[in-house]
Amino acid sequence: MFHHRKVEIKTDEQVTAMRRAGLVVHSALTAVAAEVRSGITTGELDAVAHEVIKSAGATPSFLDYGQVAGQPGFPGVVCISVNEEVVHGIPGTRELAQGDLVSVDCGAIVDGWHGDAAVTVRVGEVAPDVAGLDDTTREALWRGIAAMAERGHLSDIGHAIESYVRGLDTPYGLVTDFTGHGIGSAMHQPPDVPNHGRPGRGPKLVTGLCLAVEPMLTLGTPDVQTLDDDWTEVTRDRSTACHWEHTVAITRTGLWVLTAEDGGEAELTERGVPFGPVPL
Ligand code: MG
Ligand code: MG
Repeated sequence: MFHHRKVEIKTDEQVTAMRRAGLVVHSALTAVAAEVRSGITTGELDAVAHEVIKSAGATPSFLDYGQVAGQPGFPGVVCISVNEEVVHGIPGTRELAQGDLVSVDCGAIVDGWHGDAAVTVRVGEVAPDVAGLDDTTREALWRGIAAMAERGHLSDIGHAIESYVRGLDTPYGLVTDFTGHGIGSAMHQPPDVPNHGRPGRGPKLVTGLCLAVEPMLTLGTPDVQTLDDDWTEVTRDRSTACHWEHTVAITRTGLWVLTAEDGGEAELTERGVPFGPVPL
């Protein structure tokens, strides 16, 4: 299923350019996360992200994404998905409230190279099951990333995510309608990066491969549904959902998490995974 589509392998210089895009995404998400509070609207948060990206001289990748003749593209700089919204939530007049779980997804382009990441932010204190969902989704992301270091095959990532989630006492919904993706000179490139499946399949995980890994979990069903705005994906049972994402490069010396401030050094080292920034 993977072999008929061309995978873009990056040079060190290209990975370094992607790191610049990744750091812009990190800055935008950090600025947004700092503003998340009860009463702020998702539209106001979108403006915060836009300002950071513009100030960095970068271009937001989501704004007008998917635009074709006669059809508007995505109307925001970031996707903001609250509670039962899984991904692709449109920023607007919705006011955040205490206890909300807010996933913010951001993409930016620097010199033609893309970064893509998502974080989840809690509005004040959230219910214990919601906090568990957030912690678990973030851990699932890092399990998936860590699997890349083995340099096996693409499906090892989804296998690591699924094995981790299925091995827990809490029966989380693992969303399979959406996947991670290759990333580089475009935001969405081959190969798709499923969040489940058997190991040992698909392209080899080789130096120069850059992937966006992005698990999505729910407190109920894994089934999703698109709202009438044609973008927002919600859980069919309206249970709370969560999404975390990073853009990750496989380098000669290990992994470089391009959208993490420290390049993933702390998380990777803790997991015994080689941290491998490209020397500048
Ligand atoms: Mg994203
Ligand atoms: Mg993505």
